[in-house]
Amino acid sequence: MIQSNAREATTADVVAELRKRSAFVFVSHVKPDGDTLGAGLALGLALRPLGKRVYYFQQDPVPRNLRFLPDADRVSRDLPADLPADALWVFCDMSDTSRSGEFMPAIERRNILDIDHHLANTRFGALNYVLDTECSTGTCVLKLLEAMEAPVTPEIATCLLTTIMTDTGGFMHANTTAGVLRTSAWLVDRGADKDEITERVFANKRFAAIALLGDALAHAKLEEHGKYCWSVVDDAMLQRHAADGEDTEEIVQHLRSVEGVDVAALFKAYEGEVRVSLRGNGRVNVQSAAARLGGGGHFRASGLTFDGSLEDATRGVRAALLAEGL
Ligand code: 5GP
Ligand code: MN
Repeated sequence: MIQSNAREATTADVVAELRKRSAFVFVSHVKPDGDTLGAGLALGLALRPLGKRVYYFQQDPVPRNLRFLPDADRVSRDLPADLPADALWVFCDMSDTSRSGEFMPAIERRNILDIDHHLANTRFGALNYVLDTECSTGTCVLKLLEAMEAPVTPEIATCLLTTIMTDTGGFMHANTTAGVLRTSAWLVDRGADKDEITERVFANKRFAAIALLGDALAHAKLEEHGKYCWSVVDDAMLQRHAADGEDTEEIVQHLRSVEGVDVAALFKAYEGEVRVSLRGNGRVNVQSAAARLGGGGHFRASGLTFDGSLEDATRGVRAALLAEGL
């Protein structure tokens, strides 16, 4: 039995629970990325051959660039009416449950497993498997598969390499350690197709995304003595280029790549909200800056939804970054 006061779970604790349960719902976060989705798909793919029932809950549709992932077509906002009451809900890559969106049914804590690598994870599960030194939630899942002695098929390897490539920015971010590269090589040996992942995830942009990128870069601002670069995407820009939210993915990375820039911000003011993506080069802790405004993430990559106008958001984020040493 899971203890209701359980906090940190060991690999053995989680494996025992996975063996015990017969049904699973993998939950990915809103605006899903390759890590939240790939981690759940990989573990689900490993559990199904053991006779387990596996479902995938995700509020938002699967982004176009992740639809190639094995079993991505099973991901849905709808769950079967006959879902067993003791199904284990496995939240992947979320620091708190609110990241799963508004459409989640109420779930008893004893039925929650939290698998994550965020520093500020709130330990919302009965079992919390939070390894904050891992580069992705997918590599946390790989530790579970190893302990379970589950075969890593080419499909599972593809899901897991996608989690790594997503969260290391295609092996470019500082979390790309020698161990991450060794794990990646091992996954390639198991049949993960690195080139296909590169093409599908990173080189599969619609023309609208390129036009939107150009517009956002043309209006970028360089401030705070060249250390802060930021831009905005709003409803009008999306309309002008026939683009949507998925087309904003890599804009902030370009802002961060400017010489001398310590922090980049992209303000996404559309669909009635102001969401902010922050990226740092390691000098300023953008996770702490986002947390000041109710968001979170990692030291070098974070995000938040701002409660207020775009103007207030640009002021508030600047103030939070200055408070963190920008
Ligand atoms: P992105 O800029 O790609 O939307 O988000 C970067 C990272 O910041 C994500 O991987 C996630 O860890 C974190 N993040 C983004 N938005 C939020 C948010 O609203 N709340 C929290 N807690 N974290 C967020
Ligand atoms: Mn992640």
